[in-house]
Amino acid sequence: MRVYLGLGSNLDAPIEQLRAARLAISNVDGISEIAFSSFYQSPPMDAKNQPDYINAVMAIETNLSPFELLATTQAIENEQGRIRTERWGARTLDIDILLFGNEILNFPDLVIPHYGISERAFVLCPLFEISPDLIIPKYGKLADLVARCSLDNLRKCN
Ligand code: ATP
Ligand code: CA
Ligand code: CA
Repeated sequence: MRVYLGLGSNLDAPIEQLRAARLAISNVDGISEIAFSSFYQSPPMDAKNQPDYINAVMAIETNLSPFELLATTQAIENEQGRIRTERWGARTLDIDILLFGNEILNFPDLVIPHYGISERAFVLCPLFEISPDLIIPKYGKLADLVARCSLDNLRKCN
C-alpha cells in the first residue's frame, strides 16, 4: 500500500529530528521509503510562544495495516522523546498518517485522510512536491487544494 506520512518537529534540532525519524521509519520491517520531500519551515498553528516548525512528507510502501502503522509511528515519536502535553504543543516529533492508499477510515483514534491535509500549507506543499498528481479521497485534486491554500507563512528550507 502506498502511504504518505507528515512529519513535524519544533524542538531539539528539528531537522535532525526529522532525519532520524526518516531513518527509523525506513528501517521498520514491512516499510520501504519511496520519496522524501524538502524541509519546510512555518510558524506554529496556535501562534503561541513556541518555536517555528519544520515539516516534511515521506512516501512509503508498506504491508502494515493502518493501526499497525499508527502504533509504529507513535513508538518512533516516543523513542525520539515526544512528551504529550496540550494539543498542538511543542514537540520533538509528530508523525501523522496523511493518506493510506485511497482508504477512508473514521475511527475515533484514526481518521484517514488526516483532517489537516485539506488546508495545511505545511502538509500540502511537501506532498505536492513529491506527488503532484495525487487525488485525495474526500477532498479532490491535490493541485486544487494547493491553489486554494495560503502559502504566506511557509518557507522551503533547502
Ligand atoms: P493534529 O492531529 O491536529 O495534527 P497533533 O498531531 O498534535 O494534532 P497528536 O497529539 O499527535 O495530535 O495526536 C492525537 C491523536 O490523533 C492520536 O492519539 C491518534 O490516535 C489520533 N489520530 C487520528 N487520526 C490520525 C492520523 N491519521 N495520524 C496520526 N494520528 C491520528
Ligand atoms: Ca499533527
Ligand atoms: Ca499527530
